[in-house]
Amino acid sequence: MATLVYLPLTIFLLGSCVGSFLNVGIYRLPRGLSIISPRSFCPQCQTPIKPYDNIPLLSYFLLGGKCRNCQARFSWRYPFVEALTGGMALALFVKFGLSLTFFSTFALSAGLIVITFIDLDHRIIPDVISLPGIAIGFLLAFFDSLATVKDSLLGIIAGGGSLYVVALVYETLTKREGMGGGDVKLLAMIGAWLGWKAILFTLFFASLLGTLIGGMVMLIQKEGRHYAIPFGPFLAFSALAYVFFGPQLIAWYLNWGRF
Ligand SMILES: [Zn+2]
Repeated sequence: MATLVYLPLTIFLLGSCVGSFLNVGIYRLPRGLSIISPRSFCPQCQTPIKPYDNIPLLSYFLLGGKCRNCQARFSWRYPFVEALTGGMALALFVKFGLSLTFFSTFALSAGLIVITFIDLDHRIIPDVISLPGIAIGFLLAFFDSLATVKDSLLGIIAGGGSLYVVALVYETLTKREGMGGGDVKLLAMIGAWLGWKAILFTLFFASLLGTLIGGMVMLIQKEGRHYAIPFGPFLAFSALAYVFFGPQLIAWYLNWGRF
């Protein structure tokens, strides 16, 4: 009986440890810093963070969200990403059990979480995640049941191709660069991992969300009409929605007309 509680709890805690590492990636990758060394340091006073002050979730609250040395406030984003990654691990465990699919979807989620926050902060999607992501997703298709090898290959082509065409049309019509090349590579990565059906869903759902939320942002701040909301987070969110609810969502959409 005990494992009923301990295993999920362990999964959540291990997930939040991964989240702690993702925070390092989110901060360092766009700045061109190594993600391995040096050890985590306070962005304000550069003091290395002691291992006992680097416990996921717990340390942030024990220290009141401040640096032990200089009292600089740490962003709430750090514990948020840790909790999010832990929660994602737990949700995937509940959905897939301790299977290869669990590990592969968790790796995909980790990549998507890093991409989301880097895109929000810097408006870029680093190639160092998306390009290896395409290769790893394709390799996993040989072993994992998420997408067949054929579906994965078609997913890469559909993901890379479709957004490229949309971006090209948009640029020709508006003479403005709307979607970055990073989005194209991200969608190819999602296609590699989840197959071409996921691309249709992800593109549709992300555009819907992007239009709704983008429209709301435009209404709120009238001056910044050309404020470009990054599209990556919508693509990432939609891909994860597909992992959890894809088949049901597609069935719901196809049956929509019959209600
Ligand atoms: Zn400090």
